[in-house]
Amino acid sequence: MFDHNPSPKSVAERAALRSWQRAWRDAFTDPKALLDFLDLSELAERVPASPPHGFAMRVPRGYAAKMRRGDPDDPLLRQVLPLDLELREVEGYVEDAVGDGAARRGAGVLLKYERRALLITTGACAIHCRYCFRRHFPYGEERATAERFRPALLKLKAEPGLRELILSGGDPLALATDRLAEFTRGLGALPELRSLRIHTRIPIVLPERVDEELCAWLQQVPLRRVVVVHANHPREIDGAVARACRELSAAGCLLLNQTVLLAGVNDRVDTLEELSEALFDCGVLPYYLHQLDRVRGTAHFAVEDDTARRIHEALAARLPGYLVPRLVREVPGAPAKMPL
Ligand SMILES: *Cc1c(COP(=O)(O)O)cnc(C)c1O
Ligand code: SF4
Repeated sequence: MFDHNPSPKSVAERAALRSWQRAWRDAFTDPKALLDFLDLSELAERVPASPPHGFAMRVPRGYAAKMRRGDPDDPLLRQVLPLDLELREVEGYVEDAVGDGAARRGAGVLLKYERRALLITTGACAIHCRYCFRRHFPYGEERATAERFRPALLKLKAEPGLRELILSGGDPLALATDRLAEFTRGLGALPELRSLRIHTRIPIVLPERVDEELCAWLQQVPLRRVVVVHANHPREIDGAVARACRELSAAGCLLLNQTVLLAGVNDRVDTLEELSEALFDCGVLPYYLHQLDRVRGTAHFAVEDDTARRIHEALAARLPGYLVPRLVREVPGAPAKMPL
């Protein structure tokens, strides 16, 4: 679960908290406090008394500040507010919807597709997205903590032809930069490795995290660097996010974005068009538009396949090809993300 907290422990370390770690610590974790902040106290009756499936709320203050006060249907709020709806059992919505269980190689390594390995670096996220496909993932057991990175590396060495290592989670940028650097130091042992990819929502939801230290580390990694961010709505992108993206680009990273298609959040052509344009303004190109994985507790976010296709076709008609994300779904056992 999302139990890991990156806050340092000793008094001396606490005194040296970086500004992003302070922003992390100050996040809203009590739904009532968030709703009071948004002048939406009356919504509290739709929030379950304890977190659905043990998946607690977490919303950085900077992200909450981008929500519209007094709007119960705000698309940013909808992504993060725990609702009674999540407790509804819906046929076909299960805990391991993407077949991660079968792809596990121990030590937090997932080998699902050829030439690419995905490493679960941490279970922590700066924000908890209610639609998340990993809300039921057994992070406690699978996390590749620094001391477990050595066995992970051995697993990776045993995979012939590995070209790309994907740091994922949770959110890898939840880790302090020196821990990320520990991960990458051993990678010389993988002679065919060409690319390091980071899957992270943090530049969008906690842009303070993209600091000089992080960029200096990225700059010196001797591999192609790709950062895949995760934005779902154009209002998530503001000046602070643009700054974070600019600095990642300046550190030599190619920037891509993945979006999850979500009912009541971004299931309109206008919204997705604006999102692509806003990303472009930050030097980020759209990569994937994901159909929701059928994960227990997320059915109220589902968009019908026909609707998804229609939205995607309309989007493709309006935008240059390079601003149109690929509409895909994850099919357990398939050799790649499948086009719809
Ligand atoms: C999505 C995913 C990847 C990367 O797939 P791409 O199509 O290359 O973006 C790799 N490993 C796992 C386990 C994944 O879920
Ligand atoms: S940041 Fe990513 S992994 Fe974390 S809760 Fe959101 S969607 Fe899930």
